[in-house]
Parts: sequence; C-alpha cells; structure tokens
Amino acid sequence: MAATYDALVIGAGPAGSAAAWGLARAGLRVALVDCHAFPRDKVCGDALIPDAIGALEVMGLRPAIDAESVSLRELRVYAPSGRFISLSGAFRCLTRVRLDHLLVDAAVRAGAHLIEGLTATVPLVSSGRVTGAVFTSAAEPVTIEAPFTLLAAGANATVMKAFGVGTTLKPNGVAGRRYFQVPSRLAAERRHLVIAYDRALCPGYGWIFPGPGDRFNVGVGFFSGRVRDAPSLHDLWRRFLSTFPPAAELVERSTALTGFQGAPLRTGLAGARLGRPGLLAIGESAAMTYPATGEGIGKAMESGLLAARLVGAALSSGRDGEPVHEAYESAFRSQFRPRYAAYATAQAWSSRPWLLDLLTWRASAGRFVRTELESLIAERGDPRRLFSVRGLVRAMFL
Ligand SMILES: Cc1cc2nc3c(=O)[nH]c(=O)nc-3n(C[C@H](O)[C@H](O)[C@H](O)COP(=O)(O)OP(=O)(O)OC[C@H]3O[C@@H](n4cnc5c(N)ncnc54)[C@H](O)[C@@H]3O)c2cc1C
Repeated sequence: MAATYDALVIGAGPAGSAAAWGLARAGLRVALVDCHAFPRDKVCGDALIPDAIGALEVMGLRPAIDAESVSLRELRVYAPSGRFISLSGAFRCLTRVRLDHLLVDAAVRAGAHLIEGLTATVPLVSSGRVTGAVFTSAAEPVTIEAPFTLLAAGANATVMKAFGVGTTLKPNGVAGRRYFQVPSRLAAERRHLVIAYDRALCPGYGWIFPGPGDRFNVGVGFFSGRVRDAPSLHDLWRRFLSTFPPAAELVERSTALTGFQGAPLRTGLAGARLGRPGLLAIGESAAMTYPATGEGIGKAMESGLLAARLVGAALSSGRDGEPVHEAYESAFRSQFRPRYAAYATAQAWSSRPWLLDLLTWRASAGRFVRTELESLIAERGDPRRLFSVRGLVRAMFL
C-alpha cells in the first residue's frame, strides 16, 4: 500500500501532534502516524511548565486544559539537607493519556489525517534526501511519501538510528513513576509540585506531582551521563521512599493505583541531529528534554510548531528542495541554546549536594537565587545571570 502527502509526521506525542496541527492549519495535506491507537498512555510526570502551557495556548487548547488539569502556583525544590526553596509560578498537571488525546484531537480537527497502528521502520531515500517512510502494520507493509518527514517518535533509539538522526543510541537518563490515590485531606495539604535532589538519588531526582482527582504522580529519575555503575530505577525508587520523608509519608497514607513504570530520557540535545535533507527531528527524537528536571513536553511542542512553520513556508513558496532542516536547527539552537546550557549547569550543580545546600541557604537569605530560578522556569530573562561562575558569586551576596 502506498500514499502521498505534503508532509509526513511520525509519532503523535506532543511534538508530532503540535507539528501536524501547524501543518494542517497551513492548508497542507498531513499524515500523522503512530504505532499506537489513541488514547494511549506515556510514562511521564505529567507536569506542564510555562513553555508547555504557552504552546498549548498557541494551539487554542487552554480552555480544555484549564478545565481538566490541576492548577498549581508553587514548586518546592528540595536540597539534600531537606530544606526547600519555594518557587512561585504557573504550573499544571494532567495525565498524558488525556493531554496527548487532546493534542491528537486538535491536529485531526485542524485537518491532519491520523493513521494509527503503523510502525515506521526505515526512511525512503532518494538522491540523499528523505522522501517518506516505510511502515509495518498488522496487515501489510505501508509506504508513505512526502517532500518533508518530521520524526517525532520520542526517545525510541531504533527509529532514531534507522532515520540517521541518533548519534548516541544509549539514552542519557531514565525515569519512572507510579500513581497513587491520595486521601483528600492530605491532597489538600500537598497542592504544590515537589522536585527533590535527595542525597540518596544523586545524580538524580525525585518528584511528587498532584494530578486531577487527587491522583498523584510520584517518581524518580537518574542522569546517567558520566556515571559508571548507575543504580537500577527500582533501587532508586526504594531509596526515595526510605530517605525522603514527604514521599514516604504520602505513599504510606495513599493507595497505589498502578505499578512502577520506567522510560528512557534523552536530554540536552545530546547525541542527536536535528535533521538531514527532507527530514526534521522534533521533540525527544532530537533529545530536547531539559537536563536537571526531565521536563520535555514544552520543547517537544515548540519544536513541532517551529518545524511546521518552516516546512509550511518552504512548501507554500515552492522551495521544497531547500535545506529546511538547517534553517530549523539553527533557529531552534539560537532561540534555546542558553536555556539548555543553564539546565545542563543546573544538572552539574545538582550532583554536588554541598552546592545545592549552599544555594538553598542563599535562597532563604536573599532574593537573587529565588528570582533567577523562577525566571528560568518561566523562560524569562537571561539564565546565565545565575547559571555561571559569576552567577554563583552573585548568589553569595545578593
Ligand atoms: C518518567 C518520566 C517523567 C517525565 N516527566 C515529565 C514532566 O513531568 N513534564 C514534562 O514536560 N516532561 C516530562 N518527561 C519528558 C516527556 O515525557 C517527553 O519530553 C515528551 O513525551 C516528549 O514528547 P515527544 O512527542 O517528543 O515524544 P513521545 O511523547 O514519546 O511521543 C512519541 C510518539 O511516537 C510514537 N512512536 C514511537 N516509535 C514509533 C514508530 N516507530 N512508528 C510510529 N510511531 C512511533 C509513540 O507511540 C508516541 O506516541 C518525563 C519523561 C519520563 C520518562
């Protein structure tokens, strides 16, 4: 079986759905293909930080998201000492089953053709340019051709390798989560996000995120970059529950709704290319998840919207032979490089417990550290003001 479109999007997570929405809104014929049928789950912490909320706003999904998600105004970042910094911001939590379904639905309503149950295996290549992909299905192999293919298959190493955009196949992180039904009185006391850089998890982190219906998402992540003997995720999970009192208390007083499930993380643009002729890699297929916190929904959506804009402009002006992947890579990097650098520095700092303890102490003594962290999360200002050697010195006095 074969079909032809203006653009082919592989993967209907936040990156792929946002891209398909943008392409369809530009009047293009778009195939949005996923190996799963929706609604489908995705192992995640379910937190929406300001970049994700902004992208949802662009897609006109704020009313639906506001109606279904939990709104939170505080993020508590715990240092190894057990002290925490309380950061103000606008956050939301919504399960990925619902979020991703709303996103796919928006793409379909905009005119994208959703095709479920097809797994992309290899690209079609003609004269060095990607011209579509081959898919396997329960029935027969399917070929879809298009002048532009957008790869949005998440952290899937096999597909990144097959499409020639993964330079490192091993993910640089791993994270897992479990859902708990929390008694309503306890849930009311815990209406804030928690990220914990507990000493027992170093260089990793744990989280407690309150979701709709008092269903909390509790999890741990680990950045394996330079670590030789990384602990298993289950080991990390056990440590989190035995050494971090807010997690231990919550889990003890709540009912587990699911088992503990893990998934890879690809962060900091590491080990990935953003494209090649005819192909643009978006979201976690280009390792766009943030280091230090593992937040990636926002950048997945933003990269999808950016790629759609550039592909749409090239197609509408008949410049479909141009190296759009280069313009895309350079636009993405120039817009977000300082933010990735700041999150990478934050991750490096988080592997030094004494430094986190010091910064937490400074955050309670002055305003500078707290204000700069709030700006980083809200994607405002210059993140180097704090995340640099000079920033560290400033933090000691301001
Ligand atoms: C445990 C954990 C907690 C996290 N917590 C948060 C959080 O709280 N907030 C946050 O912002 N980020 C979080 N992240 C990161 C976030 O999950 C990712 O950044 C985000 O899902 C990336 O979106 P994506 O669209 O690029 O990929 P995905 O969401 O992974 O979507 C990829 C899609 O591609 C499909 N696919 C895969 N292979 C193929 C194929 N061969 N053919 C066809 N389809 C295919 C999949 O079925 C899937 O639907 C977390 C990650 C983990 C692992």
